[in-house]
Amino acid sequence: MILNIKLNEIQELATNGKAYAEGRQFFTDGYIREMIYDAAKKQYQARIYDPETGDAITTITVNKQGRPIHASCSCDDFKQFVGCCSHLVASMLLAESTEINPGKKKI
Ligand SMILES: [Zn+2]
Repeated sequence: MILNIKLNEIQELATNGKAYAEGRQFFTDGYIREMIYDAAKKQYQARIYDPETGDAITTITVNKQGRPIHASCSCDDFKQFVGCCSHLVASMLLAESTEINPGKKKI
């Protein structure tokens, strides 16, 4: 499964420029520990290592076309601010560029 989203859309969904830049860094530095695609739930789940706050768990739900329709993260930034946190940016960048294998294991 490949996430059906464009890079500029990920940038627009991010809380701000800082969240986007941090997310890109998490992605390029390989901080995404695991990512699975749950085909039954149409949901990506990922665990991202964050040196400041510890692990964050992201969930991205997609529609039939693979477009993201819902996203959430376990971190405080996500609860506090509008838009996608750095972990969600990293997760979307990975899912957009890599075929994610289906898995049922809850991360
Ligand atoms: Zn987060």
